[in-house]
Amino acid sequence: MLEVADLEVSYGKIKAVKGISFSVGEGEVVTLIGTNGAGKTTTLRTISGLLRPSAGRIVYQGKRIDNVPAHDIVSLGIAQSPEGRRIFPRMTVEENLMLGAFSRTDHAGIAKDLQAAYELFPILGERSNQAAGTFSGGEQQMLAMGRAMMSRPKLLMLDEPSMGLSPLMMKRIMSTVRTLQEQGTTILLVEQNAQAALKLANHGYVLEVGKVVLSGTGRELLSSDDVRKAYLGEE
Ligand code: ATP
Repeated sequence: MLEVADLEVSYGKIKAVKGISFSVGEGEVVTLIGTNGAGKTTTLRTISGLLRPSAGRIVYQGKRIDNVPAHDIVSLGIAQSPEGRRIFPRMTVEENLMLGAFSRTDHAGIAKDLQAAYELFPILGERSNQAAGTFSGGEQQMLAMGRAMMSRPKLLMLDEPSMGLSPLMMKRIMSTVRTLQEQGTTILLVEQNAQAALKLANHGYVLEVGKVVLSGTGRELLSSDDVRKAYLGEE
């Protein structure tokens, strides 16, 4: 479904992504893990069309998309739930959700997907008229994921959904990722919490300073000595 090949991305003179390659098969959960500053967010923002690569290719469903503007990327079926959630605090929960559907005109379908978001995250339905800024961190994460789902994406990219969440809330978010996969959404998951991400993922890629240093199935990486030492805090 998605193939990223030899991708390079720079901020001025700083090269943040230095030739990474990975692929995401339809129906899979694929995770990018790695330390702070490894280039994970930069990679997602480039796939979303918010940054332009200086080299390499991004191919989605057989077509190159590395020159496609961000709003057209959403229409192609790719949505991103950004790091730090970026919800609009003064707008209501429902208004935030509806922003995710901005590229759509099928009103009946939008209403159906709004109900689906409320079923997935009942708290959003119960408090649909509440200002989103009053939500807790975990609730805001649910809102950000719900908003990304409102574009009815084929490929959902989640940037550190577990950041700042309690272990219990993190479990809920991760089990929602599994539910979304079961419902047919392909997921590219960026996580600092390597253990949780690798447990879920079909495939994982370990990034370090802009490069892929290790890849394998989630299970292989979980049992790899290098990953255990560097990312799971084991001796
Ligand atoms: P984290 O897990 O800490 O969010 P990350 O793997 O997502 O890290 P990126 O945010 O992609 O990493 O950053 C990769 C590199 O690019 C870092 O060295 C960072 O300082 C740099 N960088 C990111 N955004 C900018 C920017 N707007 N201008 C300049 N440098 C940037």
